[in-house]
Amino acid sequence: MPRRFRRHIILVAAVAGVVPLTAAHSRTLAAPATPGRRAVARRPEPRITARPAPRTTAPSAVIRFSIAGAGRVSCRLDARPARRCTVVSPPPPAVAVPILLYHEIAAPSPATPNPSLWVDPSEFSAELAWLAANGYTAVTLDQWWQAWHGGAPLPVRPVVISMDDGFDGWYWYAAPALEAHGWPGVMNLALSHLGTATRAPANPHDTPAVWKLQPWMVERLVAAGWELDSHTLTHTHLTQIGPAALAAEVGGSRAVLQQRFDVPVDVFCYPYGEYDPVVIAEVAASGYLAAVTTETGVASSARAPYRLPRITISRGDGVAGLRADLAALGLPH
Ligand SMILES: [Zn+2]
Repeated sequence: MPRRFRRHIILVAAVAGVVPLTAAHSRTLAAPATPGRRAVARRPEPRITARPAPRTTAPSAVIRFSIAGAGRVSCRLDARPARRCTVVSPPPPAVAVPILLYHEIAAPSPATPNPSLWVDPSEFSAELAWLAANGYTAVTLDQWWQAWHGGAPLPVRPVVISMDDGFDGWYWYAAPALEAHGWPGVMNLALSHLGTATRAPANPHDTPAVWKLQPWMVERLVAAGWELDSHTLTHTHLTQIGPAALAAEVGGSRAVLQQRFDVPVDVFCYPYGEYDPVVIAEVAASGYLAAVTTETGVASSARAPYRLPRITISRGDGVAGLRADLAALGLPH
């Protein structure tokens, strides 16, 4: 990385309070970016008794950054170090929301290797009913993002109901249960889990017994207010593939979903919860605003938006399990 970019990143991170300045950082900051240009910041230096340095004739330069958690920062490269950087607008206030993570909502298929991921529709309905009775309201991650950036505030006890991979039970069972409360869901769709049927069958009972979500189901869920987010093309291990494949899985899947369903696709979901700095950089470069993991916690805009934790709900958890999960995180239960 060019030295001048490294200096900017260290400076902004220090201004944001993300990292403390170390001696090594200070050396980097003190070194001129280009010959003749003054340093961005420097430690007190020994008094120089030799000739004074000639005044710089370089034009003044102002750089501005926007950082989650720090707000908007403006730095004048030609100002005295102590006055160099100022916060010109503070960060928006933090907005926290628990994100529940489901997979399939249906009785487990006898062939499934992961029956714990199949939550019975009756259990799902009971969990939603308990949430509603206790003041929770389901929202989308787009609503969360808007609330963070000055849009409509979230309800008093917001919760996101997210579902990973792509299963037809989302349409047959999850959607009616959510609709009973007037709530949206969030689909994290891997395109390898998308079927080929573009039209609903005349008689729902004619539907073949397949688990894949079908394109006509996605269209109806979107029309019902569900959010569509990307879970890659093939649900592969992103930390183990090369740059071209990574770009296709991350940015390519976003383009396909946007084109096919004509909706924004602004949140990414890491398959297997696996990510590293390279994967996060690809997610950010692909235009996603945020990304969800499988780590446990309450998502908050005060944390890194590309590492939003969730709360996994498994088969058999039921209302008691959900309440225990919420209690463990200090949420109303
Ligand atoms: Zn998945």
